[in-house]
Amino acid sequence: MLDELNRTSDPEPSEWAWRRHARCRHVDDDLFFDAQNPAAEQAAKAICNECPVLFRCRDYAVAAAEPHGIWGGLSPTERKRQRWLDKFRNRPSEMALAQ
Ligand code: SF4
Repeated sequence: MLDELNRTSDPEPSEWAWRRHARCRHVDDDLFFDAQNPAAEQAAKAICNECPVLFRCRDYAVAAAEPHGIWGGLSPTERKRQRWLDKFRNRPSEMALAQ
């Protein structure tokens, strides 16, 4: 999946170096972008779960609000939820502000 991105960004900025280690590099994109196929989604997530750059990929996709596909083992809905949780976690609590 990420193989195409690797070919299009030359020279590769260092913040994208993690893509070289992506397990999906030589996997058919359809597996990661077939939203109508639960079996494909599960297969993609299984590949992500074995990926050495899972958390880098997830952090990127959540921060970039990638609207489609499985990234970092998460679906678009799961990434949206993660974004919401991250926002909640990074906000000072009302109790802390009152003190
Ligand atoms: S976590 Fe999944 S989508 Fe991300 S680079 Fe690895 S295999 Fe690809």
